[in-house]
Amino acid sequence: MTTNLASLATPAGAPHFHYEGSQLYAEGVALSELAKALGTPLYVYSRAALKTAWQHYAQATEGHHALVCFGMKANSNLAVLKEFARLGSGFDIVSGGELARVLAVGADPAKIVFSGVGKQVCEMQAALEAGVKCFNVESLPELDRLSEVATAMGKIAAVSLRVNPDVDAKTHPYISTGLKENKFGIAIEEAVTAYMHAASLPGISVVGVDCHIGSQITEVGPYLDALDKLLKLIAQLDQAGIKLHHLDLGGGLGIRYDDETPLAPKVLLDQVFAELKAKGFDYLQLVLEPGRSLVGNAGVLLTTVEYLKLTESRNFAIIDAGMNDLIRPALYEAWHGVLPLVARNTATTRYDVVGPVCESADWLAKERDLALEQGDVIAIESAGAYSFVMAGNYNSRTRPAEVMVDGDKYYVIRQRETFADLIRGESCLP
Ligand SMILES: *Cc1c(COP(=O)(O)O)cnc(C)c1O
Repeated sequence: MTTNLASLATPAGAPHFHYEGSQLYAEGVALSELAKALGTPLYVYSRAALKTAWQHYAQATEGHHALVCFGMKANSNLAVLKEFARLGSGFDIVSGGELARVLAVGADPAKIVFSGVGKQVCEMQAALEAGVKCFNVESLPELDRLSEVATAMGKIAAVSLRVNPDVDAKTHPYISTGLKENKFGIAIEEAVTAYMHAASLPGISVVGVDCHIGSQITEVGPYLDALDKLLKLIAQLDQAGIKLHHLDLGGGLGIRYDDETPLAPKVLLDQVFAELKAKGFDYLQLVLEPGRSLVGNAGVLLTTVEYLKLTESRNFAIIDAGMNDLIRPALYEAWHGVLPLVARNTATTRYDVVGPVCESADWLAKERDLALEQGDVIAIESAGAYSFVMAGNYNSRTRPAEVMVDGDKYYVIRQRETFADLIRGESCLP
């Protein structure tokens, strides 16, 4: 088999990465130039791709009472956050560290929602101090703690309860969060009691309801099922005298890694807004928390082929990026596309693309037909979400640099870690 250039022309779901001749580009920059200038492994993002993804949400919510909060755990580089802040995005945060990051780029606290099952006292204090829009509370003990913390500060915490609607998001079990057995949220059957309790607490003001049923969802059905259950709950609460102002459907929209057909925000939201209107709930503000769908297809990971190791049973392309740099394949058996930076018109061989880390789980792609030579640089596709943010230092490996392409320019948005960074803070006994 030989590589067919035409079949390489449109990398997965990412029009801002494309071939010109045999060269793979991000916008107007040849990726081989970036690899040469900055080394590998290297995360490369496209500013235009971020903007395009944002515009899909902006268009889908235009004319409606809605707020889009970037689920920033997907990619929390300051340059990425700043782009979304400039575009008018709010943020969904899950820790005090994420709060510090968004405040560092000048995000509007009134557009920040604070999610997560394990909020600590100091995190609650920092968020109250900043004046976030809302705490998405996930349990009764968290409600009690938040009320105490707010009262002690002379403040009232705006609260939405994260309800677990018990719907099947039909995605990987590790990224499914809306089923009964998950650790997230308050069971929908117990929600009314929980709201009554919240309403009775001195430091709490009940303002909304939220859910987040999972990630990489490609169907409308699970969202509409969840919406239906939340609307019934809102009606029940209304009768009990508890009036909500917003409904937060979380994030979860999928992207294209392989041959998935992602759910366009407009397709989903047209149906959601129609449903809200039909049932008389269009007075509610709709909040969304998309993460992956705003950044996933906006990034690639460049990595160099160190060795081609041909064995009797398998052929390995051993690369300089490993599971410490991109853990999704090891963690979820996730599929990422692999593209050569400079396509060769030579015969392909079937390779497992593996890293240097001393674990059998250290692979990035399996059974791919590629025309490779040692020293080639390849791009791992769809590496804009849950990729760098999950990178670590296992095997004492320094984390990659990150760079943002903007037209025919590029900006290093995070320096490559050094060995000095690696041992910073460590010390030996006297
Ligand atoms: C992770 C997460 C998101 C973002 O999810 P995506 O699948 O990346 O869109 C949104 N809300 C909450 C509460 C989350 O935990």
